Amino acid sequence: MVLNPVISKLAGKLVVLASASPRRLEILSNAGLRFEVVPSWFKETLDKGLFKAPHEYAVETAKQKALEVARRMPFKHLKTPDIVIGADTIVTVDGMILEKPVDKNDAYRMLSSLSGKEHSVFTGVAIVLCHEKENDEVDYQLVDFYEETKVKFADLSENMLWEYINSGEPMDKAGGYGIQALGGMLVEYVHGDFLNVVGFPLNHFCKQLDCIYNRCISISDQESASGLLTHNGTPTTSTLTQPPHDLPAQSGPRPNSPSPNNTHHTQNSSTTSPAHKVKRRSNESEVDESSWTLVNSLSKHAGDRKVRDSENSALPLMTSRGHVMKLNVTEHEDSELQEDLQRIVDLMDGFRASKALFTASKMCVFDLLQSRPRLDAAQVAQEIKASVKGTECLLEACVSLGLLKSKERTCQKPVFENTDLATRYLLSDAPFSLRGYIQHCNEAVWPLFSHLESAVREGVNQREKAFGKTSKDMFQDTFYSSQEVQLRFMNAMDSIAKVTGKAVATAFDLSSFKTACDLGGCTGAMAYEFTKAHPELSVTVFDLPTVVDMSEQFHPLHTDNRVSFVAGDFFKDELPKVDLYILARILHDWSDDKVHILLSKIADACTAGCGILLSEIFLDEDRRGPSRGLLQALSMSEGKQRSATEYSLLLKSHGFITAHVRHTDNLLDAMLCIKDVQCS
Ligand code: SAM
Repeated sequence: MVLNPVISKLAGKLVVLASASPRRLEILSNAGLRFEVVPSWFKETLDKGLFKAPHEYAVETAKQKALEVARRMPFKHLKTPDIVIGADTIVTVDGMILEKPVDKNDAYRMLSSLSGKEHSVFTGVAIVLCHEKENDEVDYQLVDFYEETKVKFADLSENMLWEYINSGEPMDKAGGYGIQALGGMLVEYVHGDFLNVVGFPLNHFCKQLDCIYNRCISISDQESASGLLTHNGTPTTSTLTQPPHDLPAQSGPRPNSPSPNNTHHTQNSSTTSPAHKVKRRSNESEVDESSWTLVNSLSKHAGDRKVRDSENSALPLMTSRGHVMKLNVTEHEDSELQEDLQRIVDLMDGFRASKALFTASKMCVFDLLQSRPRLDAAQVAQEIKASVKGTECLLEACVSLGLLKSKERTCQKPVFENTDLATRYLLSDAPFSLRGYIQHCNEAVWPLFSHLESAVREGVNQREKAFGKTSKDMFQDTFYSSQEVQLRFMNAMDSIAKVTGKAVATAFDLSSFKTACDLGGCTGAMAYEFTKAHPELSVTVFDLPTVVDMSEQFHPLHTDNRVSFVAGDFFKDELPKVDLYILARILHDWSDDKVHILLSKIADACTAGCGILLSEIFLDEDRRGPSRGLLQALSMSEGKQRSATEYSLLLKSHGFITAHVRHTDNLLDAMLCIKDVQCS
């Protein structure tokens, strides 16, 4: 067995799989590897258009997943792992990258594009080796590779396609199929590593481990490990390039097909250029840079980067596009300056990008290009009743943001169409439409933030300056000041709840609860996700009378009667008696005093064993992120953003003991707390 000689080397080490995929877990445990699973929070939103070949995208995503966990673990789990393994599987056909389908129609689109054709499955894998040092810094070394397997599908009839889609199997799988189960019936042949198609190229992985532990390098040599990849034997660290977390995902035709070095498609390949050889310090043996791409040192206590390069050191550096560059120190510093400059410029330009998105959404550009794709700027301008020049600028800006694609018509002006990203999130009638929330950001949040300086000086919200109204209660006096404004707010809550609801509803096993009350449940969108996920559960949505009155227009067409609505004020009125109280995006809006009033009312209504499911953005315990939560706090609502521990303490003071905390990998985190027997 290839893995056996390395398994003994891994004994006693903390090996972490940065993936929640049950298939990867099974492959690695079957191979006898002992590891912990810590799913990565890295969002798979890299801009595919930035990568020259599909495997580069998969490798970069795998790297970012593994590095995110490697960096987070010392803070969140209070232990530094020895090895973190990240992986990302994608399917490519006709120059398109297919990831997991978002719904049945998306699965249909993917599977019909695979029917009767050969396609490639790429899995990018990253292995991060962490070395904790005495001064509390952690050195990270990264090895990455990818594997390609070719798969041919039989011709699939419509019946077969829908039967397979209705089996539910496609939904959490790259390319919309699982070869190891029902999807195997669709496959005519496989060229290459079968497990790679399942989700993890075990054979290639074992060879890499063997290389790391038995042949290429001795990582037990801590000193040399922190000083790898230098020419002159000086311990060297380089800085990670900022992972492009915030780039929009784009799933469109790719500029280039896979790179020529991959024509032997079943061969193992490394993502990096094998151009340079660099020497390691301990025995001066040569290490191929293609497998050792990065040495990085980060302080556990500070997000700041420490660079301790000596002059003329040659550093391999990972660029944001996943390439490896070899630079001397001056070039390295230059490159770092460039990156820093880019980060600042990106921050400076952030508001322009937001406003371009808001404007295109408000002017219905995405809806228009969905119903009539491939219009040129003049045609769009005519439809949206705007100037040609302004429309042209807006459309081009949207192309640069990955929201639109432009195509040259022969001898004519470019024509525009939606990217997959826009189709998924920006159409008014998309199942995961964020249009309502985008409108809210434009009409309600933007005006508040344009008075940010006053908000910071005065420490109070700027609703009076922004909207000309004083308000005691943010909801009753601002968001519900007129029917039109209220509808806009409800649309915003509805759209975001549809996107986040499933992750929150499925974060915990709720089978012991039969009745729930979604306090401040607004349109009921979250409640419907809970009833979908838990067939035994009935949910009462409790919200202000004006909201309940207007909620009917948001109800789905086909529902059973497990969601009902009750009007009331949760600070004053009696609460329905249920097993589980859901508080989704409620507590951050209120001060501790108000939170205590609400929690004591819930506690009074509860008996032992009843629960509270709290869903919010949980701030990191050191309050350094996530920036979404911290930026939201700047609107200076009466409430505040809190960490999981802060929420736990508030709940504990009312007799609720925190049972689980989940970072859902979605926009909201979740916590399940149970009423203590002794307190009831
Ligand atoms: N829980 C929903 C979600 O996550 O999408 C909506 C969250 S929204 C930020 C806050 C909700 O609390 C609104 O629907 C609002 O009407 C409701 N709310 C505010 N004050 C309330 C009160 N005093 N009594 C009942 N509901 C209230």
